[in-house]
Amino acid sequence: MPELPEVETIRRGLERVLVGRVVQHVEVSEKRSCTVSSQELAAAIVGAQVETVSRHGKLLIIGLDNALSLLTHLRMTGQLIFKAADVDTGLEASGAFPDKWESDFGGGYPNQSFIGNLPDKTTRIIFTFSDGSHLYFNDQRKFGYVKPVPTGEVQLDDFVASLGPEPLDPCFSAEDFAARLPKGSKRSVKSVLLDQSTVTGIGNIYADESLFLARILPSRTVASLTRSEITALYAAIRSCMEQSIADGGSTMKDYVDSEGLRGEYLDLHATVFNRAGLPCRVCGAPIRKTKVAGRGTHYCENCQK
Ligand SMILES: [Zn+2]
Repeated sequence: MPELPEVETIRRGLERVLVGRVVQHVEVSEKRSCTVSSQELAAAIVGAQVETVSRHGKLLIIGLDNALSLLTHLRMTGQLIFKAADVDTGLEASGAFPDKWESDFGGGYPNQSFIGNLPDKTTRIIFTFSDGSHLYFNDQRKFGYVKPVPTGEVQLDDFVASLGPEPLDPCFSAEDFAARLPKGSKRSVKSVLLDQSTVTGIGNIYADESLFLARILPSRTVASLTRSEITALYAAIRSCMEQSIADGGSTMKDYVDSEGLRGEYLDLHATVFNRAGLPCRVCGAPIRKTKVAGRGTHYCENCQK
């Protein structure tokens, strides 16, 4: 599953090519991939223009100018692939459309769909825009979805309401983070970080990396954390996320970003994740791998207390 930095990378790519486009046609070919029928979705969005592409945790939010938003979750195998119009309409030359709209790209689960012809057998929803370009929502395993909701009610959506704050939100402080940790809890700090109601968007990679950066063992209970450790963990989460976004995301299982490029975070900056047996980049001791909260967990027993 993509983590927050990967979804942010996709958001930036989508924002670049979708904003300003007008939906001309939409077709849902898999019921599980959309919360409403093909006809209902068409009635709701045909003729509307894309105004914004935002994100809450791993949820992408495509805002339209008719006060409707499309909540889009890629889950395990979802992809969003944009294809510019095949034929040169001449409209670009006339200045009617900006040059940036000329490029194709895709983001999400990496497979052949990025380079093959679309639609293919994993295509669940096709959005066609007024210039003949398309956005394909592909999802091999059908766990992802598109859900139209009134823009004013996005925060009331059950899933959105279940999520904790965005770790990179400038308003999210170390005090807010401390207040969201279950006080006196015997749960491991790693499991609490993975719980999307604590802070949204932290998955296995960034939980391990943040805990290393904060020098905290993943198996420690929340109750055992000192105030200064909590502050260090808060700073570490933000720092890992920001670094990964700067690197274009992580490359686990050849994860590709919105332009089909592989992110470089794991190669360049990850200190413990996927490095079991390799020397710690700080002290040289071998990185250990164990299970915490049911997930493969990487740590340095020398650097982390
Ligand atoms: Zn170490």
